[in-house]
Amino acid sequence: MTRDELRTKLAELHLETRGVKDVLRKRLKNFYKKQKLTQTLQIKSECSDMYYDYICVIDFEATCEENNPPEYLHEIIEFPIALVNTRTLEIEDTFQEYVKPEQKPTLTEFCTKLTGITQDMVDKAGSFPDVLQRVVDWMRERELGTKCRYAVLTDGSWDMSKFLNVQCHLSRIEYPRFAKKWINIRKSYGNFYKVPRTRTKLASMLENLGMVYEGRPHCGLDDSRNIARIAIRMLQDGCELRVNECLHAGQLVNVPNTSPLESAPPPYSPWQKV
Ligand code: AMP
Ligand code: MG
Repeated sequence: MTRDELRTKLAELHLETRGVKDVLRKRLKNFYKKQKLTQTLQIKSECSDMYYDYICVIDFEATCEENNPPEYLHEIIEFPIALVNTRTLEIEDTFQEYVKPEQKPTLTEFCTKLTGITQDMVDKAGSFPDVLQRVVDWMRERELGTKCRYAVLTDGSWDMSKFLNVQCHLSRIEYPRFAKKWINIRKSYGNFYKVPRTRTKLASMLENLGMVYEGRPHCGLDDSRNIARIAIRMLQDGCELRVNECLHAGQLVNVPNTSPLESAPPPYSPWQKV
């Protein structure tokens, strides 16, 4: 089918018509697959088999310099969360706090220009352990890991395997168990829409889906919201987002999709010194 034929068919079915041809083909294919499954199992389509009730999208911003050397120690300066309800397919809630860096308390001009985070914002912010404690409280209030099953989702591997891992070492706190496994959306996106990893940067994923970035690029909360929009579209297109990476003994490890689906554990206080 041509792109126009695919769009016509999708419009007839009242489905989203934006996106490149590969995306449209996958959307239509999944619609028929889901329809068949629904008929076979005689279940209502709204009774989704999505395992997680919520997805916590986290996109950290960190201290940086232009052309950071590979050994550069990034400190987290923004901790945002966009909470996606997998039933309503909406961003139900958000969290955002800035963090005061301790090793290099003065931000570079480059960092402020890139992230929009000013010296004043981080000067007024709490330390990383304090902010992480408030994140834990926020997640607990929403009963994540207790009443509600959830997973963490990031854009790439770095947020957890690099930024959070390094920050926990610098702050001398235990790495939080709830962030030990996550969904790397770039990997899920590449596998689902069959696109090479070079086309799974945030801007490319949005463009391929016929969507435009909303907000300010490199603002952690806006990045998180836009990543959440991609995750929502993938769920609508029939993708089963599942944990595909984890941190084991401080190392990034791939989680095969044959592994059992597990919800992240309830968050706990990070005060245990290591
Ligand atoms: P992002 O999620 O793409 O906004 O990036 C997360 C963090 O990576 C930023 O807060 C910076 O610390 C670092 N970073 C991203 N892009 C660049 C860049 N072009 N140059 C230096 N550091 C960057
Ligand atoms: Mg970002």
